[in-house]
Amino acid sequence: MIEVDLATLFVLYLFGSLALLLLAWIVYERGHKAPHVQPSDERIFRCTICAHVYLDDRDTRYSRCPQCGSMNDFGNRPEV
Ligand SMILES: [Zn+2]
Repeated sequence: MIEVDLATLFVLYLFGSLALLLLAWIVYERGHKAPHVQPSDERIFRCTICAHVYLDDRDTRYSRCPQCGSMNDFGNRPEV
């Protein structure tokens, strides 16, 4: 029979546990890939009159609110 002292047994237990944690982490990360995000061609506007949030073309600076019809400036960014 192989004789193992208590310190060696503790080190084997510690590294074995860490190896299992590392293996579980690798398996978890392989299963959860980051979603592919595409940049949008639209810009978020918030109406200064009715506070309606909507999307409009990225190229335009001024946009008409689809709810109340007022013009909104992209320079007037909503505070988050
Ligand atoms: Zn509006």
